[in-house]
Amino acid sequence: MSSSGGSDVLVVGGGLAGVTCTLGLADAGVAVTLVDRNDYHQFQPLLYQVASSQLPAEDIARPHRTILRNYPSVTVVNAEVTSVDLARRTLVLSDRRTLSASYVVMAAGARPNFFGVPGAAEHAFPLYSVADAERLRLHLQSHLRQAIGSGPQTPGEVDVVVVGGGPTGVETTGALAELMQALHKTGRLTPPGVITIVDRGPALLSAFSEKAGEYAQRKLTEAGAVVRTGTGVAAVHADHVELDDGTSVPARTVVWGGGESASSVVTDAGPTPGRGGRLDVTRELTVDGYPGVYAVGDVANIPSGDDAGDSLPQLGSVAQQSGRWAAANILRELRGEPPKPFAYKDKGIMAMIGRNAAVAQVGKHRHEIEGPLAFAAWLGVHASLLSGVHSKTDAFLSWAWDYFDRDHSATVEASSAPSRLAWGSEDEDRPHITLEPTMDALQGAKHP
Ligand SMILES: Cc1cc2nc3c(=O)[nH]c(=O)nc-3n(C[C@H](O)[C@H](O)[C@H](O)COP(=O)(O)OP(=O)(O)OC[C@H]3O[C@@H](n4cnc5c(N)ncnc54)[C@H](O)[C@@H]3O)c2cc1C
Repeated sequence: MSSSGGSDVLVVGGGLAGVTCTLGLADAGVAVTLVDRNDYHQFQPLLYQVASSQLPAEDIARPHRTILRNYPSVTVVNAEVTSVDLARRTLVLSDRRTLSASYVVMAAGARPNFFGVPGAAEHAFPLYSVADAERLRLHLQSHLRQAIGSGPQTPGEVDVVVVGGGPTGVETTGALAELMQALHKTGRLTPPGVITIVDRGPALLSAFSEKAGEYAQRKLTEAGAVVRTGTGVAAVHADHVELDDGTSVPARTVVWGGGESASSVVTDAGPTPGRGGRLDVTRELTVDGYPGVYAVGDVANIPSGDDAGDSLPQLGSVAQQSGRWAAANILRELRGEPPKPFAYKDKGIMAMIGRNAAVAQVGKHRHEIEGPLAFAAWLGVHASLLSGVHSKTDAFLSWAWDYFDRDHSATVEASSAPSRLAWGSEDEDRPHITLEPTMDALQGAKHP
């Protein structure tokens, strides 16, 4: 057993929330230990680009040591956290080490929630991590290779069902439909695989306006996808999906964008988990009754401050801003000042549906825009999210405009990983991406 080596703060999870919090504390010279099961930060908003072979996995995964190399007060620990005792502010790691500190910031994010749908944990592909996206790409690629090489396809061989009509499901459907059309147009796949998106609700993008949902439906249909709203998924099998309305859709690939709950690491950490298994936090982002404990990003139910008592959504900007705010509050506490209530700057909600198609509701008042203007808003918000972990956002901007603007049918390559984005990174920047299942994935399979 060893302690954290004198760190003032332990940060659990190096996603947008954990990295931003670590940087905020390290800027002030505070000793921080950041623990993550991966040696890299993963940029979730571009996972579907990896799954659909538009970007290689390394482009959205940046090593924590690279991000934090100029901060001598930060120690990065690459290990799975197997248990947490928030009353004692102590973590146990997979290598049996024990870490403790004066402050603990829980930033462990989310994991897929299969809501007990039979077969989903066994057969569906979640899309929450770089490893998930890479597994999905490789699975789809093997079916595509077979279909491209061997003439007539068996039913559902290259068809995909995407479960969930929120932004993740809509963006994934758009990207995969585009991939199928590109392979079809270049004569490699006849007929193209059918992408079906399924949602129990009456329309896509339920968090957006009715008009935005209709826009997404129109754009996906134009891209060749099939939209099935008003019916849920009853069961997932290896070669088809059963729907609540008694019909079934043949598909050997099922993508799960149907819901999430907090990382399993908070389940037995002390506090009774709140909605979605998340940690309920105060407006100061602290966990009531647990001095020195903060929770930020997707792992936390962060009060929105409105009269209805709602929580803020699981979004990149909430994660980034709450991580930064928690760091500022810890610095206030270290100076002997009280922490301040979190003030979220709402940039709106947005989804990139595919080439030339995006929808956004900008700002707190949800001003609605579509097409290139919405894409520009999407790009601005995502470049700002990415800037917290990457210094070369201009490479991302030029890639994204190129993606949005041009017909990629000639360049999409389904048989190998796409070429890297021009980050100008050195070899040491390469993350170590393994496809081993995580503790969250194993627990999800046991308790769907
Ligand atoms: C497919 C997809 C698309 C999205 N698109 C958008 C979008 O377009 N715009 C937007 O604003 N938001 C988007 N989001 C949401 C956004 O990405 C998240 O809200 C945000 O990344 C959450 O950040 P976080 O730091 O809280 O969690 P995460 O980024 O999930 O980070 C949690 C970290 O904790 C680590 N961890 C977890 N458990 C353990 C453990 N037991 N031991 C060690 N380490 C552990 C994980 O490895 C991970 O690095 C998307 C999410 C997904 C899944």
